[in-house]
Amino acid sequence: MDYQAVLEEVAAHVEPQIGRGRVAQYIPALASVDADRFGIALADVDGRGTGVGDWERPFSMQSISKAFSLALVLADDGEKLWRRVGREPSGNPFNSLVQLEYEHGIPRNPFINAGALVVTDRLHTLTGDASTTMLDFLRAESGNPDLAFDQDVAASETAHGDRNAALAHFMAAYGNLDNPVPTVLEHYFWQCSIEMIPQLPLGGAPCRDLALAGGFLARHGLRADGSRLLSRSEAKRVNAVMLTCGTYDAAGDFAYRVGLPGKSGVGGGIVAVVPGRCTLCVWSPGLDARGNSVAGVAALDHFTTLTGWSVF
Ligand code: GLN
Repeated sequence: MDYQAVLEEVAAHVEPQIGRGRVAQYIPALASVDADRFGIALADVDGRGTGVGDWERPFSMQSISKAFSLALVLADDGEKLWRRVGREPSGNPFNSLVQLEYEHGIPRNPFINAGALVVTDRLHTLTGDASTTMLDFLRAESGNPDLAFDQDVAASETAHGDRNAALAHFMAAYGNLDNPVPTVLEHYFWQCSIEMIPQLPLGGAPCRDLALAGGFLARHGLRADGSRLLSRSEAKRVNAVMLTCGTYDAAGDFAYRVGLPGKSGVGGGIVAVVPGRCTLCVWSPGLDARGNSVAGVAALDHFTTLTGWSVF
């Protein structure tokens, strides 16, 4: 398949959607990003990547990081995590508090914020430094050593992080965090702030780098260097939770339209996995009411329609 031609056709198709939606406002450091951006990249299972549009512009990873933290915890700790977090779609916004009280401090899934805080807490206990562990992993898998935390975004999230703090304190009250709340929040904000930036001086492509970083999910658990991160079954499970929960209360619509495991972030990025074939990363900062990129979802929808590459 001529990936470049397919991606160009996808970009042309979604052109009218670019700039629709709203850039995330509740994290002030993200509010100034230009909504009129669109980039998409594809990385095949052999590590070859290509892209079109603004695929070479930096963007904030945000909740896409939650797929990586889940994978890193499952790799280290197996199934024990599921005692502390569920794996059902929440049907509620990603930062909702109500469900957590009904369900006694056990988050519905690892991709809503409450669940991601538990996963970060576990990763921190397992590694001693959750956010650096993730950054190192992303650098290794993407081959881009310049990926970095964005201090401004992390500071902005911290200053405006009352909802996440409320979720964390609430879970601490139920005994569902091992580390102090400030530690968990700090590492969670750092992991969300990771910026996909071009590699210097070689040039590079953030969309492609993030697609490459997620390659282990398309390779049934094998890392870029051929070593195994996850068993085949564990990789299936991460992909399954991405499909059912990765786009929050729009996961049903995402599965309906795109038919792939995907994980979105309020920076406007989405990573989607075609098991056995490739990973895609699309970025466009205009978000719908559920916090997913409008043009990004449309692009993945058109990609699977054009290629027939969905899991269904
Ligand atoms: N850092 C963001 C938050 O905690 C991530 C949310 C997202 O990308 N959906 O609110």
